[in-house]
Amino acid sequence: MLNGNTLQLLYNQAEEKIQGEGQMLTFLQPGANASDTSQTCPLCCSGQPASERYPDYVCAACVAHAVDEYGNALTFRNSGFSGGIDVWRTATNEKTELDHFLIGTTKCVVHEARFGGFVVQAANPQVRTE
Ligand SMILES: [Zn+2]
Repeated sequence: MLNGNTLQLLYNQAEEKIQGEGQMLTFLQPGANASDTSQTCPLCCSGQPASERYPDYVCAACVAHAVDEYGNALTFRNSGFSGGIDVWRTATNEKTELDHFLIGTTKCVVHEARFGGFVVQAANPQVRTE
């Protein structure tokens, strides 16, 4: 059984590996193939590793442009090992409560990922704004 520390360690290792190889996951996906670019980001259409669980996840490059309704840049962090994702205003480093946020003109939501990290998805994948 994996405990929280082990999971965090695995997540950190995966994150380093993923970032080191220029991949674009914001979450840990066991068995993710770093050279796999068969799935496309719904916002920028760049190739990224396929995820059966999250077939429409937004890539890390797009997530970096997340803002609230006033245009404040946002950062996402795991709340802790008990679970959950907190949203922070990057500039002021204050925690905020948001039902959704914007990436470009697309309304998006964030969820805790099953194996660590977080997943950003369009709030309504049926509505594309481009
Ligand atoms: Zn993208």
